[in-house]
Amino acid sequence: MKGVVFLGNRQCAVKEVPIPEPGNGEVRVKMKVSGICGSDLHVYRAAEPRDWVQGHESSGVVEKLGPNVTKLKVGDRVTIHHHQGCGQCYYCSLGDFVWCPDDKVVSGAFGEYVVAHERNCVTLPDSVSFIDGPFFACVATTSYAALRRLGVAPHLPSTIAVYGLGPVGLSAIRVGKAMGARVIGVDVIEERIQVAQACGADAVVNAAQADAVEAVVAFSGAEGVDYVVETSGSAAGRSNIIPSLRREGKAALVGVGSDDKVINPGDLVYRRITLLGSVVFPVGWLRDFVRFCAERQLTFEPAVTHRFHIDDGVEALRVADESKCGKVVFLWD
Ligand SMILES: [Zn+2]
Ligand SMILES: [Zn+2]
Repeated sequence: MKGVVFLGNRQCAVKEVPIPEPGNGEVRVKMKVSGICGSDLHVYRAAEPRDWVQGHESSGVVEKLGPNVTKLKVGDRVTIHHHQGCGQCYYCSLGDFVWCPDDKVVSGAFGEYVVAHERNCVTLPDSVSFIDGPFFACVATTSYAALRRLGVAPHLPSTIAVYGLGPVGLSAIRVGKAMGARVIGVDVIEERIQVAQACGADAVVNAAQADAVEAVVAFSGAEGVDYVVETSGSAAGRSNIIPSLRREGKAALVGVGSDDKVINPGDLVYRRITLLGSVVFPVGWLRDFVRFCAERQLTFEPAVTHRFHIDDGVEALRVADESKCGKVVFLWD
């Protein structure tokens, strides 16, 4: 089968590799749609080569069962939680595979077949498109988890500012709207701002051209928004969090990158601001989120700007790395 491997320093290649065999409790999934993630790009840009098939966001059809698979059947449509875990430790018992001491990322979505443990596979109802699979596997469920941890609720009037309009930020716009909030998106790349509008943002601001905090506060119709979701991981995005919020406002820090200490804890006190960190999600929340989207017919297709065949894998990574895009995906048939 064909798969994309990383050669280091923004070089990659489409290589012929053996089809993986499912082990005990594992299934083999034939890919339908795979997504390129920001975290794939961190690895792509690094000097160190990764000579195995990359990619961790996928949807597909179960094609072969390993020994002792008890629930899944051949033909099931699935998305795959992208952290493997051991299945036995305390954190795995919570479904929080990302914190398992033996965790590894389920790699291989840039190849035609992925092997994953049965516990990682979440079935997709027929009404849910395969194109939403990569969003479920990682970025959109990450945004859902951040909004759920913030306590965004449909019965409360809510305004949300999303800083950073990559795939996690674009997903936060879609999910925030589905939770009944009004949402403003902020970025410095014009192409991403346009995708955010297509994703249903109530307002957008290009922070390279306008004062983002001023625009966010004006959008709130009050002294600031109820919630901020910070996905850029930049010092600039993070320094805008506190002045964007109303009193008792809450923010989730989701993006990684900058090590600059731009937040002064003293600024939280008198305005009772809550900051929380949010990374990945337990597999149970992935199940909840698939149901949430199916019941609301919520799709992330408006966030997809580029679709590639695996033969054009090198170009797909180049386009994603340039960042003037929404979600970049591989289609397998
Ligand atoms: Zn991802
Ligand atoms: Zn574990």
